[in-house]
Amino acid sequence: MSTVSVEPNVMKPVINEYFSRKLANGKVLVATRHGSWSLLSGEQFDMLDKEELVSDKMLLRELEEKGVVLTEDGVRKIVHSYSSHYFHLADSRPLCIVYLTNKCNLACKYCHSDSCSDSSELSSETMEKIVDFICSMPQKHIALEFQGGETLLRFDMLKKFLKLFDERVKAAGKIVESKVIVSNLTLMNEEIAEFILDNNLGLCTSLDGPKELHDKQRPFLDGRGSYDVIMKWVDYFSVRGRRLSFLPTITSNSLMYDPKLLVDEYMKVGAKCIMFRPVYGVGRSAADYELLMEPEDYFEFWRKALDYMVELSMDGKVFYDRTAQSMLISIFTDRRSDMCMRRPCGAGIAQFAFYLDGSIYACDLGKKNDVFKLGNVMSSSYEDVFLNTIQLRANTSEFQPLCDTCVYGAFCNTCMCKSYARFGKVVPMTPLDFDCKVNKMMFDYIFEKMDDPVYRAVFEMWVRLKT
Ligand code: SF4
Ligand code: SF4
Repeated sequence: MSTVSVEPNVMKPVINEYFSRKLANGKVLVATRHGSWSLLSGEQFDMLDKEELVSDKMLLRELEEKGVVLTEDGVRKIVHSYSSHYFHLADSRPLCIVYLTNKCNLACKYCHSDSCSDSSELSSETMEKIVDFICSMPQKHIALEFQGGETLLRFDMLKKFLKLFDERVKAAGKIVESKVIVSNLTLMNEEIAEFILDNNLGLCTSLDGPKELHDKQRPFLDGRGSYDVIMKWVDYFSVRGRRLSFLPTITSNSLMYDPKLLVDEYMKVGAKCIMFRPVYGVGRSAADYELLMEPEDYFEFWRKALDYMVELSMDGKVFYDRTAQSMLISIFTDRRSDMCMRRPCGAGIAQFAFYLDGSIYACDLGKKNDVFKLGNVMSSSYEDVFLNTIQLRANTSEFQPLCDTCVYGAFCNTCMCKSYARFGKVVPMTPLDFDCKVNKMMFDYIFEKMDDPVYRAVFEMWVRLKT
């Protein structure tokens, strides 16, 4: 950091490192590595660029406040903000994902688990070792999630697992923040439903949109749609005061529909939000290019939905997109709420996936792939897994050149599992990467709308809502 004297006793402001991007509305976005940002007019940007800020005291003050121009106090704030982005490394509260089976009674077009492709099941011995491994982890706070295959195909094993888990995590002094079952709901019955309610288990299911779309994407093995069965259980839980979580997968099929219909469908089942999630291109969808989308088409779909959600929220029917919300949280605060938008992301840090044979993977999306394997509960200690996580991180090159100098670098991330599925490389291939293209368009749109008082008010409201 150097200061340049222009005349006796008048010091030129010291400019921090910043990145910039001209937006479609003519404004120039300036953002720093610590996640502070400012929207400048072309003229103001020229003054910053030429380091001629002393003549505009208001602008200078704003840029000092944002840490674009350095002051002694500002540097302390910058260090605090920057280090807050990495808080999850010290307090990771990992999500432990457990698979009881990879079999499934549905044949969803995009299944990222590619279920039914193997018939292995979790054995009692492996189950014990998984529970013991989770208890041996140093983190006090953990969350548990069952994924598949279809979890309810092994309700017997689910009950056994939870009994053992509850006993042993209690003895280990852990705090279990949540226990969630991810299920397609089609094997639900009264006995299972009561067990879920009695044990206060969370329940998450897929809902891809209106009946016609959902049935097209998520049929039974014989081709019948699964929408009606799901709705029966949504009603069952709803009358008992239990709200379920829903997740859509957006594919080329979804783009044939008005995105407002997806939002309406989610409101109909009592959801407070939706998480627009493009098909991963992992598992079954890796082989079905028909389902994949052009980034521009997906962005346009999301943009129309976002406009609609802003309109609804303004009319008092508050409804939001969780992807947009996590972007806005990163933009307005030092928090990085979504593990996939952190750098480094949650893989092997805030997430561990325990597969049927005891293999431990860094992420659900990387399961069954040796590149993302960190160990096995039969033979590995937590220390072994931790060292392998560091090795994986070293190979994935967390600080990629293009992201490192991108104006959105402080708010954004790409996914190594998706990158591996698409390009056979763990280092995301920005700027070819689908997520990179889409994220850039989404961030552009959000920042362009910051100048609109209606959007700005709604954005700030969404940030305050519980994640
Ligand atoms: S590997 Fe991808 S899906 Fe997994 S936590 Fe990281 S960004 Fe998210
Ligand atoms: S992924 Fe793309 S948009 Fe995101 S920070 Fe990297 S280069 Fe920028």
